[in-house]
Amino acid sequence: MVDIVMVGTVALDSVKTPFGQKDDILGGSATYGSYAASFFAQPGIVAVVGDDFPQDNLQLLKEKGISTDGIEVSGKTFRWSGEYEFDMNEAKTLDTQLNALATFSPKIPEEYKEAKFLFLANIDPNLQLAVLEQTNADFVMLDSMNFWIESARDKLLEVISKVDVLLLNDGEARQLFNTANLVKAAKQAMDLGPKYVIFKKGEHGALLFSDGKVFNAPGYPLEDLKDPTGAGDSFAGAFIGYIAKTKDLSEPNIRKAVVYGSVVASFNVEDFSLENMKRLSLEKIEQRFNEMQELRSF
Ligand code: AMP
Repeated sequence: MVDIVMVGTVALDSVKTPFGQKDDILGGSATYGSYAASFFAQPGIVAVVGDDFPQDNLQLLKEKGISTDGIEVSGKTFRWSGEYEFDMNEAKTLDTQLNALATFSPKIPEEYKEAKFLFLANIDPNLQLAVLEQTNADFVMLDSMNFWIESARDKLLEVISKVDVLLLNDGEARQLFNTANLVKAAKQAMDLGPKYVIFKKGEHGALLFSDGKVFNAPGYPLEDLKDPTGAGDSFAGAFIGYIAKTKDLSEPNIRKAVVYGSVVASFNVEDFSLENMKRLSLEKIEQRFNEMQELRSF
């Protein structure tokens, strides 16, 4: 049974970092998000890929227990290419080809309709809204990025007003709310509707804002960082996966979910595409979670 519905991109990425270059590798917000969530719960993807999309990529997701029944095949796959310099906190987008995404009209499989958790991963806010309207989730989280902030700002603000958790990276939060100050950005975000706001700060962890409280989650001090692509999406996937597993929406448990998000994201960036998450186990996740607790004890 699917317990988390995720709409987002399933993509072919071309990525260059100071540690290498890879072309046409598996990527996309729903790909990273669902794979990270699958360590805790059962995600189902809503997305579109083209007839150029390699079947073994879909097989990889299915073997992890992720439902791909909501992945439509039409036209050409969404493609993104990006580059990182030594400061790997921010990707420089070189090219975005929407392809099949430009005409995609999401349909939700019957078996997704009872899911209580919905992740509107980074994709066109019009598609996020279309999925939100077709599902019955109790807990909805949204992520986005500069591309949509610039091209669909009003629609994005409308979707934000309908979700429980808003997730952005710090640069995107400053851009969307037109302020340099993240505390002010979080207040503006919560005024729109979300109960929780999470700002991801790359290697510096994440900030969780809720009802007058702030939690500052550490980033794991990694020695081998190869490719930051998908850090935000794997953070989000593990976050909502942990909440779906525990079904506990209390603030202390949401804090724990933020730390699980940081942990899984830290594994993801140790290699390109899903390579390191493919080698990951719940046991290794728990070990690093305990190390994170040590990091903050004084
Ligand atoms: P992040 O977690 O922010 O590093 O997300 C990286 C993933 O986002 C890549 O695998 C891309 O395929 C995907 N992506 C890039 N641009 C967009 C976009 N405009 N909309 C949706 N997904 C995107």
